[in-house]
Amino acid sequence: MSASPIVDADLEPAGTPIVAGLPMPTFKRIGVEPISGACGCEISGVDLRRPLDEETLAEVMKAFDQFLVIVFRDQDLTPEQHKAFSRYFGEITELPQAPTYGGHQDMQEVRREAYEPENVVPSFEHFHTDSPFLPQPPKCIVMRALEVPQWGGDTAFSNAHLVYEHLSDGMKALLDGLQVVYSGKDIWAKNEKLPPEKRLRLRESHSFTEDQLENIHPAVRVHPNTGRKALFATSAYFKRFVGWSEEESRALLAYLQGLAQHLHYHCRVKWKKDTLLVWDNRFTLHRGVHDFKYERRHLIRTTVAGERPLGPSDWRPLR
Ligand code: MN
Repeated sequence: MSASPIVDADLEPAGTPIVAGLPMPTFKRIGVEPISGACGCEISGVDLRRPLDEETLAEVMKAFDQFLVIVFRDQDLTPEQHKAFSRYFGEITELPQAPTYGGHQDMQEVRREAYEPENVVPSFEHFHTDSPFLPQPPKCIVMRALEVPQWGGDTAFSNAHLVYEHLSDGMKALLDGLQVVYSGKDIWAKNEKLPPEKRLRLRESHSFTEDQLENIHPAVRVHPNTGRKALFATSAYFKRFVGWSEEESRALLAYLQGLAQHLHYHCRVKWKKDTLLVWDNRFTLHRGVHDFKYERRHLIRTTVAGERPLGPSDWRPLR
């Protein structure tokens, strides 16, 4: 049996309500409405077309650190405004495989035309994290909806802190010492082998070196600000655990990937035109839900570079 998915707070008589694994913070400058008990919140009272004042920005970041997925509605931004907001989170980076948006080399798009089958966008059938094979995988993605189906086409997220925190001490100890080989080297070669109608839409050229497309990262990743641990072992681009055979690696990974599917780790966001969403790509998994047909879905995004993943033995408090 797996460890019981009960947070400690459930066993305490009465205390501060817990959301996304922690007590609900207070906010003075922005409205914050959690989407589920596990992750995600909608933020109101912010106009992202203009620079944010210091206190508002600090509250947005506080919400981001806890909820990992923050949603703003009705944000009709130019690409430059979109990029300016993204830079509050860090440096905008390119990706080797994701198709770029229009003339913007530093923006990507997720686009499925009304006549296209669901497999054309690299959204994967499974929960995943974007580009974990890079030396510094993305910190977050800032995504805005240009056009979305009337019904369906949501994006779902799974909180990897909660997945880790609900494991037994024995499993935590095993994973704390493990490292993962992630590789994006064979994305293009694999795609070439598929029949044309099954191929993903990939970026055709990039300036990343072969070495940048394969890296070893800790299976348990520590949040640089909060020190919270999270599972960072997931199936997309996974090769093996370091020192383990492929067969052993696949068996453990299948178990771990299964945990992320549990509904009590999830939130799900319904897009509307001009919805802008920021998700933490280090501590959540995500997937598009392709449950729509004969409608167009077009989302544009920036990707913000992250730190080299910190393992349990790397982390030191900032102050
Ligand atoms: Mn993705």
